[in-house]
Amino acid sequence: MEDLQSILLPGIDSKRPIIIAGPCSAETEEQVMTTAKSLAERGIKIFRAGIWKPRTKPGGFEGIGVEGLAWLKHVKEETGMYTATEVATERHVFEALKHGIDILWIGARTTANPFAVQEIANALKGVDIPVLIKNPVNPDLELWIGAVERIYNAGLHRLAVIHRGFSSYDKQLYRNMPQWHIPIELRRRLPNLPIFCDPSHIGGKRELVAPLSQQAMDLGFDGLIVESHCDPDCAWSDKNQQVTPDALDYILNMLVIRETTQ
Ligand code: PEP
Ligand code: MN
Repeated sequence: MEDLQSILLPGIDSKRPIIIAGPCSAETEEQVMTTAKSLAERGIKIFRAGIWKPRTKPGGFEGIGVEGLAWLKHVKEETGMYTATEVATERHVFEALKHGIDILWIGARTTANPFAVQEIANALKGVDIPVLIKNPVNPDLELWIGAVERIYNAGLHRLAVIHRGFSSYDKQLYRNMPQWHIPIELRRRLPNLPIFCDPSHIGGKRELVAPLSQQAMDLGFDGLIVESHCDPDCAWSDKNQQVTPDALDYILNMLVIRETTQ
C-alpha cells in the first residue's frame, strides 16, 4: 500500500480508499463542470467521465466524442483534479493523450477482446500514463490477467485493475454479479497491483453503492470508482446507478475502513 502513491499518481494521498468519481458520460460542458466542481469541493481528486460509450444496443447515446475532451481539460484547469476516461481504440488513445487526459481505463467489453487490448497497448508504447483495466464482462480471470499483461508488456507499469462485476443472463439483485472470489484470486496472483471496485456497475442501482463499497473495503480493495452526476435522474446513460456528489460524500463518510492484512 505504501507504494500506491508512486505507482499511480504523484500527489495523490495513498490512504485507502483512493476515490475516482464522476458521471458515466460527459454530456454537456455545464453538466461536466457542475459535477466536477461539486466533487472537488467534497475532496475528490480524480474525475472520471466517459467520452466514448460502448452501448449494448445501437440507438442510445454513444458518447459526446472528442468535443468532451476539451471539457475534461477545463475540469483540470478549474479544479486541479486529475482526469480519467475510457479508451477502446487506437484513435481514442491518441485523442485522449493529445488532450492531456491523466488516466486511461479499459472498459469491460474491450478487455474481453484481445485484439482491441493489443491495439491499445501498441498505441501506448513509450507513453507513461496510469492505465486501469476493468475485468472482462465474462467471468474469465485469465482474460483479465492477459489484458494486464498486454499493457504491461507495452512498457506501461503504472497499472491497476477495476472489479466491475460479471454479466449474467438472469438479473437479480445485481446488474453484474460481484463473484468476489475472482478479484480476490487476481490479487493473490498479482499482489502488487492496486485493485479498485466499481460499485456502480456491479449494483446498477444507487442504493447498492454504499453496501458494495463497504464490502470492497472489508475485502481490502485499494480504491473505488463511483459514478456521480449533478442530476442523476436526467443522466443520458446509467441514470439508475449514479449518485449526486452530496450522496457520494455521505456514502464515503459512512465507510468503515478497517486495517487489513493485505
Ligand atoms: C463505464 O465505466 O461507464 C462503463 C462503460 O463501464 P463498464 O466497461 O464496466 O461496463
Ligand atoms: Mn456507466
